[in-house]
Amino acid sequence: AKEFGRDNFQFYAPEFNIRTQEKFVLQEELRNGLAHSEFTLLYQPQVDLRSGRIFAVEALIRWKHPMRGMVAPDAFIPTAEETGLIVPIGDWVLHEACRQNKEWQDAGLPPMTVCVNVSARQFREKNLIGRVVDALSASGLEARYLEVEVTESLIMQDIDVAVATMNALQNLGVQISIDDFGTGYSSLSALKTFPVARLKIDKSFINDLATDENDQAVASAVISLGQKLNLRVIAEGVETDDQVAFLRENNCDEMQGYHFSKPISAQDIEKLLGGPKD
Ligand code: C2E
Ligand code: CA
Ligand code: CA
Ligand code: CA
Repeated sequence: AKEFGRDNFQFYAPEFNIRTQEKFVLQEELRNGLAHSEFTLLYQPQVDLRSGRIFAVEALIRWKHPMRGMVAPDAFIPTAEETGLIVPIGDWVLHEACRQNKEWQDAGLPPMTVCVNVSARQFREKNLIGRVVDALSASGLEARYLEVEVTESLIMQDIDVAVATMNALQNLGVQISIDDFGTGYSSLSALKTFPVARLKIDKSFINDLATDENDQAVASAVISLGQKLNLRVIAEGVETDDQVAFLRENNCDEMQGYHFSKPISAQDIEKLLGGPKD
């Protein structure tokens, strides 16, 4: 509107309006989506590189939006994080992942760990431990079959608080892995004090593993670091035979990626594992 004059131009910069408005709309839709059960979890198998056995699945959220179809997490997790909606959404993920894993066990599938991604905001909530306890007791799942994935950068934001929370999770019997490892610059001395079971080599180091000498150096360094600190190491984003061959030669423990399976529905996990026994 011209009558406001030049000085107000910045305030009405179209980009500012669109982005703010989009965020607001998305926030309302997320709230609505939660109330109307529009979220679902896919599960991606994690495979032991030596035995070929599926020992765990990572739960990955999807949003079945009534108009936009299947929405990937990168399109809504950042806004959920900024608005705090990640807390109730994250609670739903924890409950659903634990419930599903117990259902698989009750149906006679070989016991697996279910890995759940926990974001920074969720991790820093005062009562995260209580929320995890709730999900375990509501589902009846034993704590050792739940694993929490936290990113290296989340831990490094406040190491003391992160270690205290990780210790509390470990005391419950829940396992912890460091996601996106190699991207967040943990110091080796700090890493030694983290109560974690696994390191996940970030996908960005796996993509060009067959040809890029720097990526090969990082991947093999993380693998030997894990061995020396007695941590398991998993490579994520594994797509090709060449990547698998490199990981085997370098004694990596585990892999996850399209090479073995994309993230799939709970029903497809059952089919993959041989279906319920009767
Ligand atoms: P992430 O935890 O690093 O998950 C790995 C991502 O890589 C997933 O994307 C997965 O589908 C994808 N991926 C797996 N194997 C391959 C492969 O071989 N090649 C390629 N190109 N990609 C592969 P997705 O499902 O879109 O999730 C993206 C991110 O969203 C996740 O990254 C995680 O940070 C976040 N996220 C997903 N689910 C949740 C959740 O329930 N809660 C929270 N807080 N964050 C979540
Ligand atoms: Ca993850
Ligand atoms: Ca990751
Ligand atoms: Ca990532």
